[in-house]
Amino acid sequence: MKFVDEFRNPELIMKTAEEIRRLTDPHRHYRLMEVCGGHTHAIYRFGLKDVLPENIDLIHGPGCPVCVLPMGRIDDGLSIAAQPNVIFAAFGDMMRVPGAHGSPLEHKARGADVRIVYSPTDAIKLAKKNPDKHVMFFAIGFETTAPSTALTLQRAKAEGLQNFSVFCNHVTIIPAIRAILDSPDMRLDGFIGPGHCSTVIGCRPYEWIASDEGKPIVVCGFEPLDLLQSIVILLRQLNNGEAKVENQYKRVVPWEGNRAALKAMNEVFQLRPYFEWRGLGFISQSALRIRDSYAQWDAERRFNVPGIRITDPKAAQCGEVLKGVLKPAQCKLFAQECTPESPVGALMVSSEGSCAAFYNYQHRKPVTISNASLAAVV
Ligand code: SF4
Repeated sequence: MKFVDEFRNPELIMKTAEEIRRLTDPHRHYRLMEVCGGHTHAIYRFGLKDVLPENIDLIHGPGCPVCVLPMGRIDDGLSIAAQPNVIFAAFGDMMRVPGAHGSPLEHKARGADVRIVYSPTDAIKLAKKNPDKHVMFFAIGFETTAPSTALTLQRAKAEGLQNFSVFCNHVTIIPAIRAILDSPDMRLDGFIGPGHCSTVIGCRPYEWIASDEGKPIVVCGFEPLDLLQSIVILLRQLNNGEAKVENQYKRVVPWEGNRAALKAMNEVFQLRPYFEWRGLGFISQSALRIRDSYAQWDAERRFNVPGIRITDPKAAQCGEVLKGVLKPAQCKLFAQECTPESPVGALMVSSEGSCAAFYNYQHRKPVTISNASLAAVV
């Protein structure tokens, strides 16, 4: 199958759901983590939980890049935006994420020059259009977006662009999965592996999850049938007592990854010794910093960054939701103080955030999968 329509075909979906029911042992409780925020969004958007047996529990993982960014990093970036003649450029996803003193949009309302860009290249264009200002691109994301930031920094260096820098918050997926597996309060049977960042890193970096931890992992696409097929593959492995890495998303993810993208990342970035993740704390070698050879374009070295550490508001349970310990609706603030219109935590802002996805598709307008409801969604 090659086309999106086929992966949303209600008949195939129902057949695959039937196969899931056939493979499920009614006396067993399955806990499968979807690592990627895009998967969480698709699960709620298509109402996939409605076709799964009750003893299959989908646990939301830490794969939403906006959500895992601690509040202090947002405030650090905004402290640069507060300096004269600086343009703060970031993806739209970042604009409503709360810092301790407001979101980037609220800072804009107070006079900061905050702009939405659709790619880091747009930030370069902005710098060229505004030679009397400094454009600081607030970079976020896993290995999915890090290559485009790397290529942009290579271009800035090649062109000798003086009024441009990157505030680098890129993180890497493997240490986050390791932290989840090391967490004593987390018991998982297998992983629905990330689709987007695997297009860059490939499948090989997950092999230790199967060989050392004995957990199956299936790299998965983002359509309803992708997710259900991946659950079938996981159940087959679990029933056979196997633990392997399998690639359900072969139409997009090459087993060895994207060598050109990895090369660009390697030239521009190096691993930080440690980095703070919201909900997961400090994780060693889990994030990227800009190499010395690109120091001139590193906002953290060009500006005086305070290095603020801020804990989330006391009642907010973003950390527990990010670790998969709590479901979004179990947070005390969910749909009360915290809504997409008035978010307390980043998980309620990003389209990949589990709280926003749950609120928009389950809480506010329940979706039940059926031929009719699927037709309305696709
Ligand atoms: S409902 Fe709001 S405060 Fe609670 S976990 Fe979700 S984003 Fe965080």
